[in-house]
Amino acid sequence: MTASRPPSSCFADSRPLADARYAGPLAESLAEGLLERFLRYVAVDTQSALDSPTYPSSEMQLELSRILVDELRAIGLDDVELTEPGYVFATLPGTVDGAPTVGLIAHVDTAPDTPGTGVRPIVHRAWAGEPIRLPGDPTQVLDPSDLPALDERVGHDLVTSDGTTLLGADDKAGVAAIVTAVAHLVHDDAPRATARIAFTVDEEVGKGTDHFDLEAFGADFAYTLDGSGIGEIETETFSAYQLKLTIKGVGVHPGTAKGRLVNALKLLADVVAALPRDALSPETTEGREGYVHPFRVTGTTSEATLWLIARDHDDARLEEHVDVVRRLATEIVGREPKASFTLDVEEQYRNMRGELDRHPEIVEVAEEAIRRAGVEPVHTIIRGGTDGARLTEKGLPTPNLFTGGQHYHSLREWASLQDMAAAAATCVELVKLWGERSRS
Ligand SMILES: [Zn+2]
Repeated sequence: MTASRPPSSCFADSRPLADARYAGPLAESLAEGLLERFLRYVAVDTQSALDSPTYPSSEMQLELSRILVDELRAIGLDDVELTEPGYVFATLPGTVDGAPTVGLIAHVDTAPDTPGTGVRPIVHRAWAGEPIRLPGDPTQVLDPSDLPALDERVGHDLVTSDGTTLLGADDKAGVAAIVTAVAHLVHDDAPRATARIAFTVDEEVGKGTDHFDLEAFGADFAYTLDGSGIGEIETETFSAYQLKLTIKGVGVHPGTAKGRLVNALKLLADVVAALPRDALSPETTEGREGYVHPFRVTGTTSEATLWLIARDHDDARLEEHVDVVRRLATEIVGREPKASFTLDVEEQYRNMRGELDRHPEIVEVAEEAIRRAGVEPVHTIIRGGTDGARLTEKGLPTPNLFTGGQHYHSLREWASLQDMAAAAATCVELVKLWGERSRS
């Protein structure tokens, strides 16, 4: 789902578009500065790491954070700091008394599951629509016939990697949009709210807000710039549990095991085999359908552990998914009197929809800002979580906005400069709109 730009008549009475590929004149004026930043940021290796004992999970993420600190200071922002856990915080002072403080948030890290070292971005100016064969790995082809969003971007300036790494538009397109927006706003006389900026670490390993100090951040609400296709605004995430099912059997030497050994691995395999397949699985569901998903096993004959995640947009249904696992374990392990099990259920994040519904103006103003940038807003739901879901749960309502990047976490990740510029323009309009509202 992608938004189209409004009909050109929207601009007929005002300034005509010099370059019709852009959503509007503001996006166009921001584009080249944004591209320069984006290309610089993606070249810095910021992969986060799974199973790391440190925070952030990889030291190199902070290299970009330090660059951003210097850059935000040079732009003239206040209170620019690299906080102790590794977040960049900064303030763009507002010009309207009584206006709220608006948070703008993006993450510096890139995903650990695709190579991310030595990103060599390629700019394909005014892409003519032919398949793009990436030179570093010619098996990596961006073919518009199987990438509908790409097919709609003929004529755009596209950015890809060379095919040997991800691009890192997730989320450096978000970082570049925010920096570009504040660099514009410091020289803009229009009324505006105070903006608090945060660049987080470790989002891709699910720890983006573990040490986020809401009080020190001091925003009344926020927006993450961590979405994808142009115009998208996301207010609904999954609610999420991680389950750990541990089955205890009885370990006995196989030579003398008859009638005594109870194999925990076989019981665990029975549980996995009994899980639903045609439904309640990520590979067979979409949209608002939830699932339970086994993703890891460890164990021996005497004790075996199965990790699963359970996901749903509806909290009550999420509990039912957990019950499916509990029921199967009770039934299967229960057949064997000498075996036992424990099921640990850990909450990971909650759907932010309920909380955001209580503050409809936060989403309404975002829609208006997207429209002012020249784009029709599109509501999409996330089959996953965002930093915003956790922040919302902690008390900082934070919907997610588009950045213009596509095909994340892959060697074929790409971004349209025109769409990224629309995201930067949206940030500018957001901060202005919150200022205007407080004046009237
Ligand atoms: Zn992201």
